[in-house]
Amino acid sequence: MTSLTTLSTGGGSFSSSCVEGGSTPLTASPSSDFEVERSLSPFYAKYDMKDRVLGTGTGGAVREAVCKASSRSVAVKSYHKPSMRPKNLHNLRSEMQVLTGLSHPNIMKVEGTFEEGEDNDMVYLVLERLHGGELFDRLVVKGHFEEGEAAETTRQVLEALVYLHGQGVMHRDVKLENIMYEAEGSSKVRLIDFGHACEFGGSTSRNRCGTVGYVAPEVLRGEAYTEKVDIWSVGCILFDMLTGRPPFMGDMKAILKKNRIGRVDGCAEFWDLPQDARIMIQKLLAINPEKRPSASEALQDPWLQRCCPKEVAEAVAPKVRAVSEPTAARARPCRSVSA
Ligand code: ADP
Repeated sequence: MTSLTTLSTGGGSFSSSCVEGGSTPLTASPSSDFEVERSLSPFYAKYDMKDRVLGTGTGGAVREAVCKASSRSVAVKSYHKPSMRPKNLHNLRSEMQVLTGLSHPNIMKVEGTFEEGEDNDMVYLVLERLHGGELFDRLVVKGHFEEGEAAETTRQVLEALVYLHGQGVMHRDVKLENIMYEAEGSSKVRLIDFGHACEFGGSTSRNRCGTVGYVAPEVLRGEAYTEKVDIWSVGCILFDMLTGRPPFMGDMKAILKKNRIGRVDGCAEFWDLPQDARIMIQKLLAINPEKRPSASEALQDPWLQRCCPKEVAEAVAPKVRAVSEPTAARARPCRSVSA
C-alpha cells in the first residue's frame, strides 16, 4: 500500500510519498528551515509543484508540476530517500537509470532527475505529462475493445518492446495500468513505470517481480527467465482488451494458482473471437517461454497484420474514438510480486 504525506509550508504545499504502509510524516510542520531548503532547491527553481495528483503507484503519488520557463505541465515522482524501503529505493534508481537512456515514441520520456536536499535526501523524477489516462481506465469504460483498437494498441506496445529488448532491457511489469494514452481521445500509447525494469544483457534473471494476473508463470515459479516475460504480459493485456475479462478469474488465491501454471480461463468471450485472434493470444501466452514469439516476431502475426497493418497504424494515429458506458465493474489489481 502507499500513502501520501503532505506538508503544508504556508506559502504552498510539498508532498512526498511513504511506501508500503509507511504512514509516518516525513518531518514536522512548516519550518523556516524547510523554506530555505526549498528556495535553494534546483528542482523548485525550475518547477512549480501543484497539489494535483495524477495517479498513485506502488512508490506513491505522481503529481503535476509546471515548468516555470515554458509553463508546460509535467508529471513528477518525488521521494524522500530515508523514508523508502531499500527495495523501493533500488527500484527508483533503476527506473531513473533505465528511463534516462531511452527514447522511443511509445515509451514515456523522462525530462530530468534531481537528487538534492540538505542531506541529498530528496529525489525528483520529472516525466513528460501524459494526458490521456491509463489503458486500464479506458478499458473499464468501454468494456472491451473492437479488434482494430486492440490490435493498434498491441502493435504500439510491441513496438516499444522491440526497442526496449533491443536495448537489453526488460520491463517486467507490463500491464493495463502501465500503458497510458498520450492525450484524451488519442489512440497513441506509451509504456510507463520502469520501476521493475532491468538490464538482461542476454542472460536470465530469477528475481520475482511483476503483478499477479500479468506476470509470466516462470517468474512465479522462481525459475530463470528472460525478456519473454514481457511478451506473456502483452498476451494478458490482449486477452483483456478483446474479451473484456482478465485471463485469470477468481479470488487472489485462485488467480495466483492459475497464473503460476499458466492456465487461462477459457471463457465464452474468448471462444467467440475469430480464430486468428485466439491463435495470437495463445502464441503470446505460451507456457514455455521459448515457444513465445519475440516482440518483433509477434509484430508479424497474421491477426495483427489483418487488423492493423503497419501502414494503417502509422496513418491513423492519433484519432478520436467514441466512448461508451462501462459494461462491467473491474477491480484494479494491486498484486505486486517483488523480489
Ligand atoms: P509507481 O512507479 O510508483 O508504481 P507509476 O509510474 O505506475 O508509479 O505511476 C502511477 C500512476 O501515476 C500511473 O498509473 C498513472 O495513472 C500516473 N502517471 C504516471 N506517470 C504519468 C505521466 N507521465 N503523466 C500522467 N500521469 C502519470
